[in-house]
Amino acid sequence: MIVHTAKFTGSYPRADDCPTPDRPEYAFIGRSNVGKSSLINMLTGHTKLAKTSQTPGKTQLINFFLINHGHKRGDLGWYLVDLPGFGYAKVSKSSRRQWEQMIRRYLVLRPSLQCVMMLIDIRVPPQENDLTFMHWLGEMHIPFVMAFTKADKLKPGAVDHALKAYTEKMLESWEEMPRAFITSATKGQGREDILAFIDEVNANFISPV
Ligand code: GDP
Repeated sequence: MIVHTAKFTGSYPRADDCPTPDRPEYAFIGRSNVGKSSLINMLTGHTKLAKTSQTPGKTQLINFFLINHGHKRGDLGWYLVDLPGFGYAKVSKSSRRQWEQMIRRYLVLRPSLQCVMMLIDIRVPPQENDLTFMHWLGEMHIPFVMAFTKADKLKPGAVDHALKAYTEKMLESWEEMPRAFITSATKGQGREDILAFIDEVNANFISPV
């Protein structure tokens, strides 16, 4: 897929305020600093579409970007959704609970959500809250894939090693490893594979509204 247009459409404090779910949607999520904004900017070819390194603890909103809308006649395009980062120790318990409620509500209620893109820093060993979150996605039957970030920071052998270690950990509780992409925002690695995956899923989209 070629990204022809990418436009910020709005930030929403609650799942119920999000735009009409009439086009395929992909939600990007991960711990703060995982490289989410960088990956979104890399995928869309916009250096500043998603704001990098936002101050943790700031207002947590669901950010919507509309991709390839109207590029072809009648093509509604698709939504890329940037969910607020989680896992920051500095965030208070109550704001974490609020975040969780908002995210869970969004993920469970959004009928047009095609897939969650779960971002994991390839250099960091499996984190309990990431594993718990993916487990919850599984329980709720919410489709997700993994995107390992910052692969350029490791040598290829170390990337393989990290992926193997993560796979072993996942297989303790999963029957099979979810689909995983290796990415680097600085090198553009993983871009074509992720966009091809989205294209493939988009082709089978039936609007729920
Ligand atoms: P976010 O908080 O998840 O949105 O993370 P950011 O996209 O702001 O990235 C956090 C930090 O990691 C920034 O300093 C980025 O420049 C850096 N970063 C993100 N992705 C990559 C990557 O693929 N390679 C390298 N080398 N640095 C990255």
